[in-house]
This record gives sequence, structure tokens and C-alpha cells, in this order.
Amino acid sequence: MPIVNPFDVPGQWYKGNLHTHTLESDGELSPEEACARYRDAGYSFLAITDHGTITDTRHLSGDDFVTLLGGEFGGKGAPSGRTYHIVVLGVEPDWPRPDDDAQAVIDATNASGGFAFVAHPYWSGLHTDDLLTLRDHAGVEVYNFTCYRGIGKGNSAIYWDVMLAQGVPVVGLGVDDSHGHYNDYLGGWICVKAEELTSEGMLTAIKSGCFYASSGPEIHDFRVEDGKAVARCSPAQVVNFISADSRGRSIWRDDDTLFDEAEVELKGKERYVRLEVVDVRGRVAWTNPLPVPSGEDDARNA
Ligand SMILES: [Zn+2]
Ligand SMILES: [Zn+2]
Repeated sequence: MPIVNPFDVPGQWYKGNLHTHTLESDGELSPEEACARYRDAGYSFLAITDHGTITDTRHLSGDDFVTLLGGEFGGKGAPSGRTYHIVVLGVEPDWPRPDDDAQAVIDATNASGGFAFVAHPYWSGLHTDDLLTLRDHAGVEVYNFTCYRGIGKGNSAIYWDVMLAQGVPVVGLGVDDSHGHYNDYLGGWICVKAEELTSEGMLTAIKSGCFYASSGPEIHDFRVEDGKAVARCSPAQVVNFISADSRGRSIWRDDDTLFDEAEVELKGKERYVRLEVVDVRGRVAWTNPLPVPSGEDDARNA
């Protein structure tokens, strides 16, 4: 599915977290307490994704805060022999859980109209071949806050770029994966652009990539036009325009002063460009990739 640029479509921004554990598996809060925690912090949506089950949170969904149904399933099938963790969203509580094969979990999710993504590949110790072997998953966690807070392995961007460079059109999610064993709430999220706040609307927008992920910074605009990639954002120390292989550009200043807009000329060989905004605390925001028209002339005339 082509990725929709959220900065090109009308709507409002809604902040939410797609990976949360509760007392229904190994988390510390009840589903009610977890929803209250995020709602009180200004979030608009939450997916409770307990291990091995779909927790029914439909009674916690309202007009100004909605829940998405989901779960997290371990899965075999990795060439390395390691275990995938697959987060599934948009399936019903009575969704028949497939066996513990990761591809079967993804296929069953897609058959039910849901959305599946690979959780914390860095923490899982997956090999890049493990990611490339899976088919029809929609994304990967570029950032997982509990993995960052726990062992410093929160950022899985390299896995994402390996997939993008191979032409696998996946989105990058930022999540908490909160359990509550230590403070792992409110540190990784996505901001979704949508016309209205409903569970179905959030799911549709997320499936199409109409969001950006963050652990702190805000992104105000990002687009490819007239042979350039241009960005506006909250105060940044570094802005990275990430592209395939050795293409791309990092923008920063010798004196480390902050800035809130950046642009780069495109050569037409980047294949894709995605934005990373790094703030003074090292926190990052990530857009999904936009295609770069191939060929220098095409890029200039696009
Ligand atoms: Zn996991
Ligand atoms: Zn988890």
C-alpha cells in the first residue's frame, strides 16, 4: 500500500500508543487504569496489546478517547532461530489465535482486516534476514520505549532501512510497550492525521502510514517537491534526511545551535527519503518514507 503523507491531507493530529501491557498479561495496571493514564496525559487513543490474547477494551472507548483492539504474539519461523514478537491490531476479541508461527499470525491478521507489525527487533536480537523473510506485515517498531529504558535497545531504525532499501514498503511505529515494572509510560508514540477520532478511522490512517512517530520532537511539515525534501519541526539539533544505502544527508550546525527548518536537494537516486528530527535531549521523531522520483531530470521537474 502506498504511504500517505500526513502533511498532505486535511484533518487533525491525534496522539496515541499502540503497544501496552496490563494485568491481563504481565503489566502492572488494569486496562481501565492504563486507559486513564494515557487519557489524562492527553493521548487520544490506546491499543492494549497483552501477550497471547486480545483484551476486550471496547467499553473503554468514548468520544474523546478511543481504544484499538490488539495483542502481541510470539512467533517462530525466523531463519536465525530467534523469536519474533508480532503486534496485531484491529482484530476481534474472539479472533482465533493462529499457531505460534509468525507468518501465520500476520496472514490471519490481514485476513481479518487488521494490521500487524514487528515489535522491537533490536531487543529480540533478530537478524535482518529475519525481517526480510516475513511477508505482508505493515511495519516495524522504529522505537520502543521500554526496550530503551530497560537495556538501551530502543531504536531499530537500521532494520527499517534494510527493508526499505530492499523495496519493502513498511511504516515505522513509535511505541511505549509499557509494562509498569519501571517507568516506561509516555515515552514513545505516534501522531496520526485523521478527519475524526474513531477506532476505525485511526486504524485506517495508521494502515496507510498517515502518521509520524516520536519520542519527543514534533514535525510540522515534510514533503518532497521541486527536487527537494523540505522539513519544519520543533527546535532540533540534528535533522537527518535518510535515504537508501549511502544516500541522504545530515543537517547540523558547528556551534550546535538549534533550528526548526531544513531542506536538501535531491539527486534522484535516493529512492526514498524519511525524516529524523533529533532534539537537544537526543529524543527523535521519525516520518514514514516518501518516494523520490528517479532520475535527476525527473527529480528536478517533479
Ligand atoms: Zn515483545
Ligand atoms: Zn510488548
